[in-house]
Amino acid sequence: MTKFSDLKLDPKVLSAIADAGYESPTPIQEGAIPPALEGRDVLGIAQTGTGKTASFVLPMITLLRRGRARARMPRSLVLAPTRELAAQVAENFDTYAKNTKLTKALLIGGVSFKEQDILIDKGVDVLIATPGRLLDHFERGKLLLTGVQVMVVDEADRMLDMGFIPDIERIFGLTPFTRQTLFFSATMAPEIERITNTFLSNPAKVEVARQATASETIEQGVVMFRGGSRGSMASRKTQAASGPYRRRG
Ligand code: AMP
Repeated sequence: MTKFSDLKLDPKVLSAIADAGYESPTPIQEGAIPPALEGRDVLGIAQTGTGKTASFVLPMITLLRRGRARARMPRSLVLAPTRELAAQVAENFDTYAKNTKLTKALLIGGVSFKEQDILIDKGVDVLIATPGRLLDHFERGKLLLTGVQVMVVDEADRMLDMGFIPDIERIFGLTPFTRQTLFFSATMAPEIERITNTFLSNPAKVEVARQATASETIEQGVVMFRGGSRGSMASRKTQAASGPYRRRG
């Protein structure tokens, strides 16, 4: 079995992974980290729960370890569809970059522009943002995306559902043509395929199976109930659960 120490991650990243208690990479991590570290574009087809966040955060930290942040010119950019997801990426970054001096700013709605402006002015290595908020900052003239070396698009299929694809295309156009792109989606809808064909260059394609399947020792089934009071429904459910659908041997 592959271990994190077999991947060419920065030793400071490896020690943060060990502190987090992880030994072996998940399949998306095992597939995406090596090509990302080689500087290749990656197209990851994976859902939440597969460990996909670390599959882009770990190589990103390793790649950024050399070089320094410049005022108003972030060196990397992560786009996530919602505030919650962006905040999760930021948490992952804090966990795995804790032994480095890399800095981040989280640009999401509901947080004052002022605080975010101060960080951007000082210079950050990693900008983690929702597309609308990022463009708001850009339009206020305080942010340059011409220094972005690594760009991540996370949960592209949700971006599509939320109508963010035109924003994503615009943001791609504001970053350098030479950037490295790590692109993640749970599914490959035709519109997503079009975006990847347009903006990714010869990507390493890594596809992992859905995770949310029950263990083989669990027998699953559906039990139909007629309506009734809450109490009687609850007791009938308990009866059913202790009946035919129990853990096997
Ligand atoms: P994600 O798919 O990125 O939302 O991650 C799902 C969960 O998997 C998170 O709670 C992570 O902390 C956890 N995780 C990430 N990498 C690993 C790993 N290599 N081994 C075990 N758990 C992990």
